[in-house]
Amino acid sequence: MGMKDRRAQLAENLARVEDRIAAACAAAGRKREEVTLIVVTKTYPASDVRILSELGVRHVAENKDQDAAPKAAECSDLPLTWHFVGQLQTNKVRSVVRYTDLVQSVDRSRLVTALSKEAVRAGREVGCLIQVALDAEESGRGERGGVGPGGIEELGDLVAGSPGLRLDGLMTVAPLTGPYADRQQAAFDRLMDLSTVLRRAHPAANMVSAGMSADLEQAVAAGATHVRVGTAVLGVRPRLG
Ligand SMILES: *Cc1c(COP(=O)(O)O)cnc(C)c1O
Repeated sequence: MGMKDRRAQLAENLARVEDRIAAACAAAGRKREEVTLIVVTKTYPASDVRILSELGVRHVAENKDQDAAPKAAECSDLPLTWHFVGQLQTNKVRSVVRYTDLVQSVDRSRLVTALSKEAVRAGREVGCLIQVALDAEESGRGERGGVGPGGIEELGDLVAGSPGLRLDGLMTVAPLTGPYADRQQAAFDRLMDLSTVLRRAHPAANMVSAGMSADLEQAVAAGATHVRVGTAVLGVRPRLG
């Protein structure tokens, strides 16, 4: 496909997603500005990121450092905020911190320690969202990353007290298994309740990142401040990612 066709396709998809977000906000009695669209560009090339930026996208997300690092370098001239949403190994933290503004997948204290150390070394402030696993036991861990609800407070306090890091809020992925399987609305409502509790101790940590291509309406209805949309903008990914 030529660049012109790709641009037209991305513009059309983006307009459709924008309509969905606007309709969901209207249905929930929320202002459109209360919800920020993050486009998940994982597996797609830097050329797509550039087109999206030209079309007005300001937030992009990636989930694998080996793909994201060269892409972010190629796009370093663009006015974009980069989010990292994948499971993050501590040996990738030094690289990730170079181009990432917010890590949404913070789920264990060892990762917080590594992020803090590398953020300080890089002279950067990195925003952190605690990834909540609603398929995990209260004090357990999710299959696809994330900490059970019982682990939020301790991890939140740790982030808030770590140099180079800023506690920004909570993130979740609607679980495929457990009590919230196929109950996205209930899962996102639960995340909002957990956010209310977190904000009592950390009032500035008011980001609630929830909702993807299939369930952004439920996330907006629950009160999400950020939705993370990949497929609905870029198309079905050619490989798992
Ligand atoms: C891939 C991904 C998304 C986007 O999912 P789509 O279904 O393609 O919209 C959102 N959040 C996370 C954490 C992801 O890994």
